[in-house]
Amino acid sequence: MSTLAERYESVSAEVAEAISACGRARSEVELIVISKNHGAALVRELHTLGHRHFGENRDQEAKPKAEETSDLPGLVWHFVGQLQSNKTKSALSYTNVLHSIDRASLVSSLKRELQGRSERLGGFIQLNLTDDPGRGGIEPKHLSEFASTVLELDSFDLLGVMGVAALDRDPRIDFETIASASAELQRLEPKARYISAGMSHDFKQAIEFGATHLRIGTAITGKRNL
Ligand SMILES: *Cc1c(COP(=O)(O)O)cnc(C)c1O
Repeated sequence: MSTLAERYESVSAEVAEAISACGRARSEVELIVISKNHGAALVRELHTLGHRHFGENRDQEAKPKAEETSDLPGLVWHFVGQLQSNKTKSALSYTNVLHSIDRASLVSSLKRELQGRSERLGGFIQLNLTDDPGRGGIEPKHLSEFASTVLELDSFDLLGVMGVAALDRDPRIDFETIASASAELQRLEPKARYISAGMSHDFKQAIEFGATHLRIGTAITGKRNL
């Protein structure tokens, strides 16, 4: 059995290798450790190793964890799961970057909560890469129209697009779709050039297709135990 520190070092090395293999700079890519289903102790241990970016997908779990670790300097919290509108206020109390802006009703609740706020929120528009319109996320063909409403938010920086590749096919198909959506978004807002893509099993392919924010859970944290 490997330890958390060993898995962290080995995944970090694989990430660095994949980045240099495609001629990119390590500084272009942020590794976010998805700490869901693990307690605050995991965040503390990785912080000791120098890690600062963590991601969560449920407010009920993330909020107490962020509170328990609020003494740690420099932590950056990424919210990557579907956010219910009635949890927006709670999630914004600790979230620095929201990766899952996936529908108009969330934009409405963000509009209310961000109005007049001094601290800025960063965010990604989540794409729906499946054929099922019922799944979360914006269909690529509606991206520009949706992005123009997101760009009107106060105290908000649109960073780019986010996607989760389908499990039942080559992830490069979806990463290519995300990369073209990103190019389209940058024609509307050149600053929104970041791409949140790549998880434990597909981060190498995501890096090849320009991912700038990797969301890696189990490869580092091991089996989830909560
Ligand atoms: C859980 C989760 C991840 C991390 O998944 P792993 O396969 O454990 O790396 C990434 N993105 C989202 C949206 C998640 O919910």
